[in-house]
Amino acid sequence: MTDFLPSYVQGEWWTPGWVAEPVEAPESPSPSPVLSERKRDEVKGTDVRDASTGEVVTRVSTEGLDLAGALEYARTTGHASLAELTFHQRALLLKQFALALTERKDELYALSARTGATKTDSWVDIDGGIGVLFSYSGKGRRELPNGRVHVDGPVEPLSKDGSFLGRHVYTTLPGVAVQINAFNFPVWGSLEKLAPAFLAGMPTLVKPATPTGYLAEAMVRILVESGLLPEGSLQLVTGSVPDLFDHLRLGDLVGFTGSASTAEKLRQHPAVQTGGVRFTTETDSINASVLGTDAVEGTPEFNAYVRQLVAEMTTKAGQKCTAIRRAIVPRATADAVTDAVRARIAEKTVLGDPRAEGVTMGPLASTAQRDEVLRQVQKLQDAGGRVVVGSPDAPSVRHADGSTGPAPDGAFVAPLLLRFDDANVEAVHDVEAFGPVSSLLTYSTTAEAAELVARGGGSLVTSIATHDPAQAVELATRIAPFNGRMLLLDRDDARSSTGHGSPLPGLVHGGPGRAGGGEELGGIRAVLHHMQRTAVQGSPEMLTALTGVWHAGATTNAGDRHPFRKSLAELRIGDQIASDAREVTLDDIETFAHFTGDTFYAHMDEDSAAANPFFPGRVAHGYLLVSWAAGLFVDPEPGPVLANYGLENLRFITPVSPGDSIRVELTAKQITPRETDEYGEVRWDAVIRNQDEEIVATYDVLTLVSKEAVAA
Ligand code: NAP
Repeated sequence: MTDFLPSYVQGEWWTPGWVAEPVEAPESPSPSPVLSERKRDEVKGTDVRDASTGEVVTRVSTEGLDLAGALEYARTTGHASLAELTFHQRALLLKQFALALTERKDELYALSARTGATKTDSWVDIDGGIGVLFSYSGKGRRELPNGRVHVDGPVEPLSKDGSFLGRHVYTTLPGVAVQINAFNFPVWGSLEKLAPAFLAGMPTLVKPATPTGYLAEAMVRILVESGLLPEGSLQLVTGSVPDLFDHLRLGDLVGFTGSASTAEKLRQHPAVQTGGVRFTTETDSINASVLGTDAVEGTPEFNAYVRQLVAEMTTKAGQKCTAIRRAIVPRATADAVTDAVRARIAEKTVLGDPRAEGVTMGPLASTAQRDEVLRQVQKLQDAGGRVVVGSPDAPSVRHADGSTGPAPDGAFVAPLLLRFDDANVEAVHDVEAFGPVSSLLTYSTTAEAAELVARGGGSLVTSIATHDPAQAVELATRIAPFNGRMLLLDRDDARSSTGHGSPLPGLVHGGPGRAGGGEELGGIRAVLHHMQRTAVQGSPEMLTALTGVWHAGATTNAGDRHPFRKSLAELRIGDQIASDAREVTLDDIETFAHFTGDTFYAHMDEDSAAANPFFPGRVAHGYLLVSWAAGLFVDPEPGPVLANYGLENLRFITPVSPGDSIRVELTAKQITPRETDEYGEVRWDAVIRNQDEEIVATYDVLTLVSKEAVAA
């Protein structure tokens, strides 16, 4: 008997066997539920099979699993352990997860072959998933503060005297991030959701799809065995969870990837409808790829288009949510595209068991999936699609031992291109054959091509192959509202392009309408999906306390030491240096002009300057004022301040004329220690004022400051 695939819940590996059963307790007047052991073979389970050979790999079942307990464990233990960490500490852990998985990725590759994935397919899933962890680790440390609250957008002044302000803050949702994943990318699919949830401080419960759940289990096992996971931050449930939504509540979030029909069913649940459970979905998508009218046979764009179309049909045997389902080409080029696709598939594609030498395309994930794809192909044929490349008949394939022949127990489907004479039939824009299947449609005007793209009802991605900017702009502006991502493919980026079908951690992955309306990836945006944005109104003092960012009007501290003499450990938000005043003379302006070469008329020519609508006459250079401000606030001796690495948000507000004087106030605004360095970042609020207290310039000064006092 094949063993059950374990789940990892409440800090332990669990397999069916111990199940709760109502039994008669002898001393009790009524039956009560107690635990009793049942034989494993009495547990109903689902067999999971090798995609190429049909051999049983494992069995899955959730019979007896305490799902409600697992969710509560995440909400309590998981939350508490993640709340101890700042964004940066969590980001560093993501990097360590990535390293732990990299060290043992051979184990994952071996298992991945059983799912039907070739080496290249596995690379996308496994190394792609690890790459997402690295990417979020870097982004988290660069783009989030080293704290637990994220501030969004600028200050909104709400009163004239500055005593009442508004600010938006993001705080971690209090519940559990449940991932329900599709079968096609068991590693990447889990990690692309884990990374942003973890960074946000939300514990995750992974529910992989049954046919490839064993690969997700192996990935989770590596993370558990690494000892790096904060307690309760990651759990795994293998097997079906039909009553999952009954246990969800406000503060929980479900990230669903799968078919639109399952998503639709789950969306109806009261937990989502009225219970406040966030439900983001990435569903099937009838993606398109448009060939421009300029991209005729022989052009680099034509070649790139064909290469990409074949890659999307054959990579992962077409089981990619982002694969090209509709190839939309000019009527005049359609035959050439068909011939080129046929030739390239014949030249490049070897269908077979991924463990066999030379195989470039594996089977689908299961025979059930194969049968489902062939059913959808039949629907396309019934709607008028003619198979012009390949055949839906059972293909001859290369077996692991190198022999060639049919594989009735394997889930093989050959690459298929269908051609529709009528591009407007409903089925081609609606039926998803989730395998190596694309349909060719023709258009005569750019507007018609764009309309065909939109008929998909909202897609994850559309690519446009053209070298004509006017065509690219017209198509892109028309189709962007129907797509989560667009790739503009031409001779300049064909080689460096990451491809139509590759979602990237820094870019939105998701799409409107049928594609689900979600955004699983997309950089820090995806982290914020796991947090609540709240508008907070209050005094500068209160907003400073809540956000960890000094707000103008909050307490400042001039202290007895210049803030540049304080290490990161000593410096506090609000520490301030207010400088003396310095008068600006015409001589200073001329010296600066000749020294830098900036002899712009506003600084040098009284009449021309006065004729300008913004200046009363000759004025000081803004850069002169900023340079002087540095001279006014600096404490020059060696000390904890290591470097100035930039300015942000610089605005010149009031012009400064000869005879005016300026002074500067520099206030520690935000302190961000770096977890892995002996220094951190300090953002200073700088305000230059004139003799009449008018604001001349505002900006942020960015410095690197040592954590410990540096010996003088
Ligand atoms: P599916 O049948 O919709 O299943 C998706 C997931 O939902 C599986 O984990 C499944 O678990 C689970 N599920 C089914 N019923 C459930 C319920 N009542 N409660 C909780 N979970 C439930 O889709 P699939 O066949 O695995 O995946 C193929 C589809 O996914 C394709 O249509 C493809 O386009 C889409 N997809 C979209 C994206 C994207 O990012 N947009 C990415 C990949 C795939 P079991 O397996 O245990 O039933």
